[in-house]
Amino acid sequence: MKRRLLCVDLDRTLIPNGIQAESKQALALFRQFAAHEALALVYVTGRHRSLIEQGIAEYGLPQPDFVIADVGTTIYRITATGWHRWHAWSALIGQDWPRADIDRLLSVFTALKRQEADKQGRHKLSYYVEPGVGGQELMDDIATHLYQAGMKSSLIWSIDEHASIGLLDVLPASASKLHAIRFLMQQANYDTEHTLFAGDSGNDLDVLLSDIPSVLVANAEDDVRTAVGQVHEDVLYVARGGYLEMNGNYAAGILEGVAHFWPEADTWLRAR
Ligand SMILES: [Mg+2]
Repeated sequence: MKRRLLCVDLDRTLIPNGIQAESKQALALFRQFAAHEALALVYVTGRHRSLIEQGIAEYGLPQPDFVIADVGTTIYRITATGWHRWHAWSALIGQDWPRADIDRLLSVFTALKRQEADKQGRHKLSYYVEPGVGGQELMDDIATHLYQAGMKSSLIWSIDEHASIGLLDVLPASASKLHAIRFLMQQANYDTEHTLFAGDSGNDLDVLLSDIPSVLVANAEDDVRTAVGQVHEDVLYVARGGYLEMNGNYAAGILEGVAHFWPEADTWLRAR
């Protein structure tokens, strides 16, 4: 197999912590695949470092080669000596983003409640959004408010199914899962043909709708399915289950997408 970059979201994509069932053998097969020497594994997640390490330990996930954490605002290289923060990325996205001013500007929105301190980042402000508050309308109001104040930020809105509460991340406009993946591809020298992304929810949409080949796992939320609409299977594959007798949810969906885009990997997986 040729050198490949596999980028996967964690919650409800690789980590089976949604309401749907996981195929029993899926994660074990994913672990075998991730150990292939030609594969560089990237975790792309809203989680911060300690929550990622906790997830790795709790679910027995393979050690990644790179981690894009805090919804694209932090990149780490993982080596035998530990986690190394990619400072050039932090410097790049940190320009022109006055964190405290933005936090103050957003205090007028009473539906927003600041998340716990350990969920905040140097380049990320995270809020809970009261259940029942109209997501898109509120996001539009916030975007307008920040724009009028001259703040270049991007808003990442998602829903925590378990807690049924809205989650909002406010990031520098230059920081996103997509830009972070592009930065990594460029720095580590991978083209789109040798890169694949897997995700499930709203904060994966920028990558799912980009030119980077992507897979939407079968357990994805309906609004994300709708949002990706009729994108051609050459760039976006929606897992449907049935691959190697697995259901297409979580790791099974990632592997189904891997097989769709990378025939050599399909051959390898079928030989397990
Ligand atoms: Mg997810």
